[in-house]
Amino acid sequence: MSHHLLYSLDYEVYWTRNDDEVEVLVRPTDHLLAVARDLGVPVTLFVDVMSLWRYAEVGEARFVQAVERQLREAVASGHDVQVHLHPHWMTAERRGAEWRFAASEFLLGAGRSESETYEVSRRLLERARQYLQDLLQPVDSRYEAVAFRAGGYGLQPGARAIIRALVDAGYAIDSSVVPGMYLRTGRNQVDYRRAPDAANYFLDGESGLDAAARDGVFEVPVGAARIGVAAMARRIGRYGRFRLAPPAPLYGRGHSRDLDGGAVSDGGTWRQSIARKGRVLADRFAALRLPEDPEVLLAVTRAWMARHQVSDTYCSLLVHPKGLTGQMVDDLRTYHRRLLDICGADVAFTTFRDAASRLQPGRARATEALRACR
Ligand SMILES: [Zn+2]
Repeated sequence: MSHHLLYSLDYEVYWTRNDDEVEVLVRPTDHLLAVARDLGVPVTLFVDVMSLWRYAEVGEARFVQAVERQLREAVASGHDVQVHLHPHWMTAERRGAEWRFAASEFLLGAGRSESETYEVSRRLLERARQYLQDLLQPVDSRYEAVAFRAGGYGLQPGARAIIRALVDAGYAIDSSVVPGMYLRTGRNQVDYRRAPDAANYFLDGESGLDAAARDGVFEVPVGAARIGVAAMARRIGRYGRFRLAPPAPLYGRGHSRDLDGGAVSDGGTWRQSIARKGRVLADRFAALRLPEDPEVLLAVTRAWMARHQVSDTYCSLLVHPKGLTGQMVDDLRTYHRRLLDICGADVAFTTFRDAASRLQPGRARATEALRACR
């Protein structure tokens, strides 16, 4: 019995421009995998497979080969590789050093009927699963693509159709939900404020995100919670420091033209941008995502554990290798060390594949109480 924590990387390049894709993605991932080895924890790489297909189509073999080598090595070292989809790559066009794409393609379900959403999702999910299994089963014959995280957390709109496609394409786990998250940008619309109130639950194509189901895909959310005043003060203090001297990425640079689903800003005037940043800073919502102050991450984790005192909960922590800074690496180490100090007996670290192998769909969740880690 444990609170299972699943460290994960959203493994993707910038959408508009990358000065060097290997520097932007492969090198910082090597760095993070070395840190994980040091900490003795497995990591799951959620791979933006569609970008790889698009890079291969335009003949950029060096980047794709470097990625495929890295994914094989990761699995050989006991890490996990799973599926992340950013559907706008389907129609992205290379213009010199930049990619252009339609913002309307950002979400699987945007501008599509329910049946179109299902067809598109199912086709992409099946192709992604097959691609990763062809790539990784030669390294580990038991490898299976079983988990999915939507790009930009975008399981909406069309959640029912996407969930039905996940089930039909053979996925066991979804990890797109960030409980309590509300996000409206020019391209993205996420509202997880009314997601089922449980640590984990099944989702099916009938209820979608509205209610827990008896069977279907098992939700392993990105951990999130409302944080207290002390954690808020740390967050605001750190933001002030970073405004003065923003930490530089350790490796490559690029940009996504403010399209990131998790980004604070989405264009507009500087006044609008500051107002948005102010709202985010003042919001007591926080997720298990870097960059974030390690004490805030710890507060989220402890709030999560206190709220869900059942046996075997699963939640994920998310890091983007792109834009990785030395500060983020230090913060990850600090968070991990502090978590073990405070809650070591209650926490186990695992992968999505391992979580899937322990699942028996439809099984009633055990309710034996765990000692809360306060
Ligand atoms: Zn992503």
